[in-house]
Amino acid sequence: MTSSPLLIVGSIAFDDLDMPSGQYRDVLGGAATYAALAASLLAREHVRVVGVVGADFPEAHLADLRARGVDTSGVERKPGRTFRWHGRYSDDLSSRTTIDTQLNVFAEFSPHVPAVPGPSPFVLLGNIHPQLQTDVVSQIGRPKFVAADTMNWWIEREPAHLAELLRKIDLLVVNDEEARQLSGQHSLVRAAADIRKRGPKAVIIKRGEFGALLFDDAGTFFAPAYPLEEVLDPTGAGDSFAGGLMGYLALAREPSPAVLRRAMFFASALGSFCVEGIGPSRLLAVVPADLAARIAAFAKLVDFGGELSLPL
Ligand code: AMP
Repeated sequence: MTSSPLLIVGSIAFDDLDMPSGQYRDVLGGAATYAALAASLLAREHVRVVGVVGADFPEAHLADLRARGVDTSGVERKPGRTFRWHGRYSDDLSSRTTIDTQLNVFAEFSPHVPAVPGPSPFVLLGNIHPQLQTDVVSQIGRPKFVAADTMNWWIEREPAHLAELLRKIDLLVVNDEEARQLSGQHSLVRAAADIRKRGPKAVIIKRGEFGALLFDDAGTFFAPAYPLEEVLDPTGAGDSFAGGLMGYLALAREPSPAVLRRAMFFASALGSFCVEGIGPSRLLAVVPADLAARIAAFAKLVDFGGELSLPL
């Protein structure tokens, strides 16, 4: 099956990670990086990244992406330093604090989508200024399906731009805290309904180790997070989830409610791989057989063996 192109826009970064297991410096990171690595495991040769790096960014990292079939021709290299993020996790990894964010070349980032032949693509708008996200949508003309992520920072500071973005996208992927903040509703069911009224037909609310909920015209759907014995680093899990989801949709080409529901499991699987290594190390090592095994384990996880009826 040939898939449709998937365009991923977002940060490409160096991360400094303070984890209970140790301190890790200059780790390859960024939302676009995680999303592209996850998506490429599903829709190899169909993933394009648009982003910016500085003069200090090793060509080898871009080569790693290309080795997985990712088209990096939309990654601009600018004089200056690459975006840097420094995060510190709590001992149980349940929370994290941003110690430092240095935008560097990302401060002037104005995404330029390279002209591509063929059908309108699927688009994943990583967490950047909502005006830039809207800009990308207008550059593409008639994208088939647009998903976007956002964060508290934009919800608080750019409500008008975010409102405009919401009118232009098909799916918003956020975590529970962001959904509550954006909607002003504590109930996630009400939060999703409120967000859907503002534009996107579908909303996914991620709840970390508690799985993810999808709300769309076909109703409410739940996919669990894969229960892991050990989590090493949650950085990038949300982006890997979104990348896996969109990789699956691009492969299937038709983002119907049924396809979206199956995509949720692939998204969850990619998120689960991500947290098994420091930075993107585990994602970089995953092979198709690992993915097949995890998907089979997922099917078993939710298989209750028949109808849900009273055993009369
Ligand atoms: P996640 O854990 O899914 O929220 O993604 C973490 C990744 O997002 C890290 O690799 C960071 O480099 C990147 N990141 C952190 N802060 C920002 C920001 N303000 N804008 C864009 N990307 C960011």
